[in-house]
Amino acid sequence: MKTIGILTSGGDAPGMNAAIRAVTRTAIFNGIRIMGIRFGYDGLINGNIYEMNVSSVADIIQRGGTILGSARSSEFITERGQKKAYNILQDFGIDGLVVLGGDGSYRGAEVLSNMGIKTIGIPCTIDNDMGYTDSTIGFYTAIDTVSEAISKLRDTSSSHGRANIVEVMGRHCGDIALYSGVASGAESIIIPERELDMEAITSKIKRGRKRGKLHHIIVLAEGVGKPYELKEDIKRITGVDTKVTILGHVQRGGSPCPYDRLLASEMGNKAVQLLIEGQSGLALATINGKIVPVPIKEAVETKRELNQELYDMAGEISI
Ligand code: ATP
Repeated sequence: MKTIGILTSGGDAPGMNAAIRAVTRTAIFNGIRIMGIRFGYDGLINGNIYEMNVSSVADIIQRGGTILGSARSSEFITERGQKKAYNILQDFGIDGLVVLGGDGSYRGAEVLSNMGIKTIGIPCTIDNDMGYTDSTIGFYTAIDTVSEAISKLRDTSSSHGRANIVEVMGRHCGDIALYSGVASGAESIIIPERELDMEAITSKIKRGRKRGKLHHIIVLAEGVGKPYELKEDIKRITGVDTKVTILGHVQRGGSPCPYDRLLASEMGNKAVQLLIEGQSGLALATINGKIVPVPIKEAVETKRELNQELYDMAGEISI
């Protein structure tokens, strides 16, 4: 292994920079050249590549986003685009590649691995929608961000005796809603994996009102949709003034929490070690606190299961 390339692809996630830093430093420590590929597969196809050194990744472990930039590339989905990418990697002498991203980015990584480029994937997405790993880089930072926002909403919710619906990210996977909902003591958590139970939500609000409760937080995953219809229904059924807050892309930014920085550092280091060993077509997972490689094919095919125990517990402690 003489030269390793690194790219960040798909939606960005806090902690990507910490992973870029670990990959870069581990490569240089082992006498390997490291090339930064800007803007994901799009930059790869266009040869937007530069050599990195120890200083290229200085002062970034605490920064959100990605210094390499991220993008989605429709050209790379085509066979022509993939051939172009392969030729560019050859031109730059890149014989190993580390791909940071979600499952779409992993599918691209698998294509390149099958073409003969040694490739390792690192799971970076705030959604935590990859079932093969206990968590993805960026997820716990997003939980931090959402929990802080909900604490602020709770203050004003109590002052005015209102209910607040907080829409958080998560198209198919309700993990952000579930984990941040539990962490911030939400009364109801609505996720795509489970049927919305209007009776349960509204009777909880009515019961709370009866015992003098002034705040009601309902966390809604974006994949469920229709926050404004939900608000009108709650208002009509309970008579409680209800507001909607859509947190949106603030959830994608911010300084990564220490857990994400640690995970990113360990995975970045491990990715380079695997490439030195000559391994390819693997994605890193954290399973019971250990960093383990899993075939990319298996990683993209493993559907994330809902943490049913946590979901049931949330119901018990929010009566
Ligand atoms: P997020 O979880 O944030 O959506 P992601 O990695 O899943 O991240 P995608 O937009 O699905 O994001 O994928 C990123 C890029 O990976 C795409 O723009 C495309 O270039 C490449 N890609 C996606 N699917 C494939 C595929 N089946 N084959 C080859 N490349 C792919």
